[in-house]
Amino acid sequence: MVDGNRDAIARAIDADFGGRPWQETELLEIVPLLGAIRNTSRHLRRWMHDERRDVALPFQPGSAWVRHEPLGVIGIISPWNYPLFLSLGPLVDALAAGNRAMIKPSELTPRFSELLKRMVSDHFDADLIAVETGGVEVAQAFSALPFDHLIFTGSTSVGRKVMQAAASNLTPVTLELGGKSPAVLAPDYSLDKAARSIVLGKFTNAGQTCIAPDYVLIPAGQTDAFAHKIMSRLETAYPAAGSEGGYSNIITTGHRTRLTEAVEEARNAGATILRPSGDYGTKFPPTLVVNAPEECLLLRDEIFGPVLPIVTYETLEEALSFISRRARPLSMYVFTNNRRTAKTILDGAISGGVTLNGTLLHVAQDDLPFGGVGASGMGAYHGRHGFRRMSHARSIFKPGFLNAFEFLGPPFGKLADIAIRILGR
Ligand code: NAD
Repeated sequence: MVDGNRDAIARAIDADFGGRPWQETELLEIVPLLGAIRNTSRHLRRWMHDERRDVALPFQPGSAWVRHEPLGVIGIISPWNYPLFLSLGPLVDALAAGNRAMIKPSELTPRFSELLKRMVSDHFDADLIAVETGGVEVAQAFSALPFDHLIFTGSTSVGRKVMQAAASNLTPVTLELGGKSPAVLAPDYSLDKAARSIVLGKFTNAGQTCIAPDYVLIPAGQTDAFAHKIMSRLETAYPAAGSEGGYSNIITTGHRTRLTEAVEEARNAGATILRPSGDYGTKFPPTLVVNAPEECLLLRDEIFGPVLPIVTYETLEEALSFISRRARPLSMYVFTNNRRTAKTILDGAISGGVTLNGTLLHVAQDDLPFGGVGASGMGAYHGRHGFRRMSHARSIFKPGFLNAFEFLGPPFGKLADIAIRILGR
């Protein structure tokens, strides 16, 4: 279904964004989704095997095992920023585990959502997979359905509402949320290489990526040089961003206004704003913000756009404390070639996932669990972790030919006394 509709998918998303390069849709949605399907098809038989478990001495010679069973019907609520990957990625895991699913895609990508509905109804029975389109009211009604599991990808604030709605049905949830994912540069690391990784992670999809580096922590004294490297990398990466469409648009004027206001707030508070010289036409240009005060919106809320604050630090402890004063982020990017420094940073700040000396790539590893921690979410999926998340691990015990436990009583006698004395030691 996906392979046969690649062009239509890229065109629909491009139209919904008012400009998104088809290469971004291929590289960040279609390719990883097909990879996930391939990985799951290859390994599913093994993941499904019953798992033998240890049996303690008093229950020998019994046997114990875990059987992975479908949960039932999985609800999937997805956001607009990667509308294909974040609706069908969870679906791969849900179907692999033997479930049926209902998907509620975002109202902010109406062309894609209609295409998804059509594709799914052309390829699957409605009682196996159903797509429900609509706005917030439909989303609210959807999250109140008595699913056997609900996987929600979106903002932390809506995640709270979804969990509340699910609670009334005792529906377990997986929440894939957002947050302020930091990139930390240690003094030893090449600014050139870090700038390349950060430009890719931050400005792809115009920063509208849940795991994009939200801000960068830089050792004092390296800010100007780093800003310069970012600028020159941007000029190489997006030579004709506005006209050729190599650079994405912001999804709505509302989102754009929020970004403009946040940058203006920082400027008025004394921050320096830097932008590359390229022609970005009507698109929101990549923006560096240096020395914004900590209480600015840009350093408080998730940015979710092509605006990169640079925050300087004197000591690593100071950098770690800056991260820890904020809610637990979805991702963290650590740039250092020194193993001790990497360990200090990993030990000193919590995040859902990490890429070392790069950005974004932990999400692309089929065998790593993907998910947040604290305010950035709960529960992880992808590959075998997703299979497990959407399965019920059913415990099964079978006594052996001799079921010693049953000889202990009642009525309780000497044997029970001996067993209590020996086993209770
Ligand atoms: P959003 O929370 O506004 O919307 C997500 C979905 O929730 C949409 O389908 C929407 O219709 C639905 N929804 C809206 N109100 C609802 C309600 N009251 N009850 C139930 N459902 C409701 O998020 P968004 O703007 O589409 O996406 C951006 C956010 O998503 C960012 O915070 C980003 O970090 C996060 N995100 C996280 C991941 C991840 O994998 N962790 C991936 C992408 C985006």
